[in-house]
Amino acid sequence: MFITLIKQAQVFSPAPLGICDVLIANNKIQAIEASEKNAFTSIEDGKLAHVIDAQHHYLVPGFIDSLVHISGGGGEGGFHTRTPEMPLQDAINAGVTTIIAGLGTDSTTRTLSDMLAKARALKHYGLSVYAYTGSYHYPAKTITNSITDDIMLIEEFIGLGELAIADHRSSQLHWRELAKAAAQARVGGMLSGKAGVISIHVGDSNDKLSLLEKVIERSDIPASQFLPTHINRNKELLDAGMKWTEKGGFIDVTTSTNAHFIAQGEIPAAKAIAICAEKGVSFSQMTMSSDGNASLPVFDKHNHLVGLEVGKVQSLHSSFCELVKEHKIALQEALKTVTSTPAEILRLTNKGNLIVGADADALLLNQNDLSVETLISTGKLMLHNKQALVLEDF
Ligand code: ZN
Repeated sequence: MFITLIKQAQVFSPAPLGICDVLIANNKIQAIEASEKNAFTSIEDGKLAHVIDAQHHYLVPGFIDSLVHISGGGGEGGFHTRTPEMPLQDAINAGVTTIIAGLGTDSTTRTLSDMLAKARALKHYGLSVYAYTGSYHYPAKTITNSITDDIMLIEEFIGLGELAIADHRSSQLHWRELAKAAAQARVGGMLSGKAGVISIHVGDSNDKLSLLEKVIERSDIPASQFLPTHINRNKELLDAGMKWTEKGGFIDVTTSTNAHFIAQGEIPAAKAIAICAEKGVSFSQMTMSSDGNASLPVFDKHNHLVGLEVGKVQSLHSSFCELVKEHKIALQEALKTVTSTPAEILRLTNKGNLIVGADADALLLNQNDLSVETLISTGKLMLHNKQALVLEDF
């Protein structure tokens, strides 16, 4: 069936649009009309369309997860601690239709080629996948020996990252080196119509965002070129993140966590967003990402690894629910952190909004508990009534 008609959904684009019928064809949203108009009766009666009854459901944009280690990460405790690849179902069950992939600490046994292969496998099944060239380290490993060329010539690459700062695992960058890397990503993005954004892994050292602040003070790179992540790592970093937004910067909070990190002072992602919102940070400057399939290493005070867990994409959906249910953030605002705001920052112009002409990435949420009921990714029905319809070959 090439046409899908979603009927009687309460649509949030993320702006509230009321009860609407949404027509999907050729992988795009073709029309959104108030249900009371009965605009599509001819299509429905002609049995041309697959009709989805969406009464008592919210219809929202498919979620964008702006950092997932799709080909696995970790390894900080030796080879046996390398984390597995992200299964397709992890994204589907979390309502995620768009993923931005990245490498982390290990760019020796984890390669960009392998990550691109995994990205293309996920695209084969129906997800939209983009990626960052490079890894934690600088000089960055790339496919073409150039950050600029990678972004310009390789379709999936939209920026650089996650480049590490303020972390004992980072390349201990000088601000000039960071400015140079950022300039290469920025120019690559400009010349190819992409964001050229630099995803910044911020560790737990006292340096916090000082390197980024130096770059924007002493070079021509604007704050908006960067998307620093893990800003909810501790209260001090969250405060620095809020100051960063005053300079025009964006911040990303990480939804994967564990009891150890919370005990060490990490602020759960939803709570961090709620705190920032209360302090006046705009929902157009804050995003959430899962850091899925990263290892969650646990270090003692001498930086010795004492344990390891794996981040989950599912945490993106649960943090979104927490934001609405526990922190009483309005649905249309909470949605921005996982839809329109990352789309805007990452310049994914067809993503993150339910508007006519956009990619048909649409998620039906149960109105009672916000659980994922049905997921459409670029027009393809991935999950319906909580049943997965697309399975991986292995
Ligand atoms: Zn990271």
